[in-house]
Amino acid sequence: MVPPTPEQVAAWLRAAQRTVVLTGAGISTESGIPDFRGPDGVWTKNPAAEKTATLQYYVRDPDVRRQSWRNRVDSKYWTAEPNEGHRALVDLERTASLDTLVTQNIDGLHHAAGTTPDKIIEIHGNVRDVKCLSCAWRAPMAVALDRVRAGEDDPDCPECGGILKSATISFGENLVASDLAHAQEAAARADVFLAVGTSLSVYPAARLPEYALANRARLIVVNAEPTPFDEAADAVLRDRIGQVLPSIVAAL
Ligand code: NAD
Repeated sequence: MVPPTPEQVAAWLRAAQRTVVLTGAGISTESGIPDFRGPDGVWTKNPAAEKTATLQYYVRDPDVRRQSWRNRVDSKYWTAEPNEGHRALVDLERTASLDTLVTQNIDGLHHAAGTTPDKIIEIHGNVRDVKCLSCAWRAPMAVALDRVRAGEDDPDCPECGGILKSATISFGENLVASDLAHAQEAAARADVFLAVGTSLSVYPAARLPEYALANRARLIVVNAEPTPFDEAADAVLRDRIGQVLPSIVAAL
C-alpha cells in the first residue's frame, strides 16, 4: 500500500461530516511534557513511577503520595505552552468538521490552545483541580500546592481529613460515566476518527477507534510508534506530530 499523504488525509477531513479526534500524551511531548511509554517516557525511564499514577498505591502508601505531591509542585504542567500540534487542531476546528476532541491528557493544553471547551472531553480528568477521595470537596490545585510549598508533604481534606489527589483519573479509578458515554457516542457517529500521539493501550479510551470503525469511519493514526490499530487504519503517519498535523491542516 502506498502510504497516504497529508493531502489525501486532508481530502478525507474536508469531506467529513463529523470528525472525532483522540489525543494522547504524544501530542504534548513537543511542549516539554514527557509521555509514559515513548522512548523518553516517564515509565520507560523509571518503571516505578507508575505507582504514583495508580490509585491503590496512592491510597495505601503515604510515601507514594509524598512523591506525587513533590512531582506536582515541580511539574512541567504549570509552565508548558501549547505547540504546533495543539494549534493545528484549533485550525482543524475552524476549517473542517471537528465534532469532538477526546483527550487522555490531563495538561489542559487543548483548552490553552483555543479549542472550543464544549468540544473537549478530558476523559482522564485534569490537573487544574484537587479533589478529596472521601467527600465531595474540590478546589483549584493551587490551594493544595500552596500547602505543600508551606511545608505539608501530604495535605489532607479541610472538610473531612480524607486523602487529597489531583482531579485526574488514576489507573484503577473509574472514569466519569457521562464523559465516557459522550466520547463513545461521538466515536460511534464519526465518519473520520483521528488518533494522535497515543499508544492506544489505555482502556477504555483505547477502545474508541472500535466504535468509529463499526460506523465505517476512516481511521487515521498519527503516532511515532506502532499501535494495535495500525492494521485497521486507512492511514498511519509516523512523523513528528508538530510537523504532520500542520501539514494536514495546511492542505485542507
Ligand atoms: P503513551 O505514553 O502510552 O503513548 C504516547 C505515544 O506518543 C507513544 O507511542 C509515542 O511514540 C508517541 N509520541 C510521543 N511524542 C511524539 C511526537 N512528537 N510525534 C509522534 N508521536 C509521538 O500515551 P497515552 O496513549 O496517552 O497513554 C498514557 C496515559 O498517560 C494517558 O492516560 C494520559 O492520561 C497520561 N499522560 C498524560 C500526559 C499529559 O497530560 N501530557 C503525559 C503523560 C501521561
